[in-house]
Amino acid sequence: MTDTVLVTGATGFIAKHIVAELLRNGYAVRGTARDAAKGLDSVHKALARSGVDTAGLSMVAADLMRDEGWADAVRGCRYVLHVASPFPIEQPKMREALVAPARDGALRVLRAATAAGVERVVLTSSSVAVMYTGARPAGHVYSEADWTDTTRADITPYIASKTLAEQAAWTYVRETRSAPQLAAINPAFVQGPALDPDLSTSLEVQRLMGKGAYPAAPRVEFPVVDVRDVAGLHVKAMTHPRAAGERFIAANGSASLYGIGRQIAAALPDLKGKVPKFEMPDVMVRGLAVFDKRLRTVLPELGTVRRCSNAKAREVLGHEFRPAEAAIRDAALSLRAFKLI
Ligand code: NDP
Repeated sequence: MTDTVLVTGATGFIAKHIVAELLRNGYAVRGTARDAAKGLDSVHKALARSGVDTAGLSMVAADLMRDEGWADAVRGCRYVLHVASPFPIEQPKMREALVAPARDGALRVLRAATAAGVERVVLTSSSVAVMYTGARPAGHVYSEADWTDTTRADITPYIASKTLAEQAAWTYVRETRSAPQLAAINPAFVQGPALDPDLSTSLEVQRLMGKGAYPAAPRVEFPVVDVRDVAGLHVKAMTHPRAAGERFIAANGSASLYGIGRQIAAALPDLKGKVPKFEMPDVMVRGLAVFDKRLRTVLPELGTVRRCSNAKAREVLGHEFRPAEAAIRDAALSLRAFKLI
């Protein structure tokens, strides 16, 4: 019998790649969206455009902030991939605006999965739940053993939301009898091709740079991963015997914002005059952030380079990562294909 997999937030950038990977592997996929009819239409169109047969796809309505819908969503599913979580480009004033849907939503999904006898849940966490620890020696390479310290004053509501959601999920499965097995994927900054013009924050940053919104870039650099690797890792972690109870960093190489701009221009030379032309001094970024809310997100990052290891995903799940350069180039080319840059 075909196994059914629930993918929460199926309308998202990463989730659409996961749904495609599952359908290509012969699974039946039930997605959740806040608006099920609109969600089904958009995921169907995006996947059909990429040549994926969507006959095995259905969609149900569920909101992370409400109890309704989750029991129906998980019914009959062997696996749940919990991808949904708010990822806004501007940070809200109150941490709770993101923490509530992220943490309470994850617990809603886990409780429903427990009641329905789901075998394993894979949670989409983030590298931001790993890399904002207390002090580490210079050159420290972050691994799955590291946890973000949510008492740090400089972390954004988004970083707090991803960390608290993942921690709540691990606590839940530890303390709940007959809870499903849990695995977490912790992706870095996700690049790679968009399947439709509905962009995630991580590709919106590319779109803004390609549109000339940032003549100069703040001095920030972060680990990068290709969305196709993130999707592949979710599907591997869903069934791999050694994945249960484990978290896996999904990252391969890193890029600065300025470097991403240079790579966009290398892939699309007509954008050479649009992408950032130099790196801004940190003091200038701090000044501009008073007026530009989007810049506030990068303030804790200025001048820092965080590196993380993908050794566990390679060794345990046998995963081969695409290079960061290919992920950035293919993101740019997909934005051009949708006439967004
Ligand atoms: P998207 O914004 O494209 O997707 C977010 C998804 O979450 C959407 O499907 C959205 O549904 C859903 N969602 C948000 N709030 C709610 C809610 N209250 N109830 C139900 N669904 C909700 O982002 P990505 O695809 O990039 O992100 C997917 C996951 O990956 C998130 O958990 C994110 O934190 C994580 N991640 C992303 C990274 C990146 O660089 N892109 C890096 C690391 C982790 P709707 O369509 O209804 O708005």
